[in-house]
Amino acid sequence: MFKLKQEPPTPCSVPSHDEPLKYFCETCDNTICRDCAILTHKGHEYKLMADSYTKHYEDLEQLLVPVKEKISTVKNMLSILTKREIDVGERGERVLEEIHEMVEEMIGDLHQSERKLTDQAKRVTSTKLKQKQAGQLSLEHLEQVENYVEKSLKTGTPPQILSSKEQMKKHMNEITTLISAEDLLPKVEADIVLSKDVRSLRHIGDIISGTALYSNAE
Ligand SMILES: [Zn+2]
Ligand SMILES: [Zn+2]
Repeated sequence: MFKLKQEPPTPCSVPSHDEPLKYFCETCDNTICRDCAILTHKGHEYKLMADSYTKHYEDLEQLLVPVKEKISTVKNMLSILTKREIDVGERGERVLEEIHEMVEEMIGDLHQSERKLTDQAKRVTSTKLKQKQAGQLSLEHLEQVENYVEKSLKTGTPPQILSSKEQMKKHMNEITTLISAEDLLPKVEADIVLSKDVRSLRHIGDIISGTALYSNAE
């Protein structure tokens, strides 16, 4: 079954030995001749080279089995990794698209928020400015009444003043009742401040990876 290659027998290298290297000393792990066997390897375990060869050939073949098994396992792993490579590539692309879409959406939302805040700020500003306009208007009305009464008092004849006194009283009464200086006083500070609340934009997500396999039906 296991044949030694037919080569001319190698002579022993020990000078005085004339014999071919026909034996294998298991003790010394060496090829020896018959003279070696008798003289320097006495008591050692040695066999005909063909027998040792068969034994060691079989040993080596046995040792090759786990190596072959490892090769097959690694090949399987590599084919799984190749499939994963494609999968990972596709998923990576999808995640990139999702990031882009998410940011686009956020930009849209931000523009909307900008418009909302801008409108709000303009409304607040104009409300605050209107208070002064209202004050000016009140002053105008007061001065109109004042002028009207003073003019009447200065230029009117007694009968005229007596006949229009009720109307003057009515006007003065109305205007003083209507206009309250207290209402014109600002109730709040003139400050207009932007209250920022953008924490969520500083951190807009994470890339999750490395979920344990077989934990779900993958
Ligand atoms: Zn020898
Ligand atoms: Zn020996």
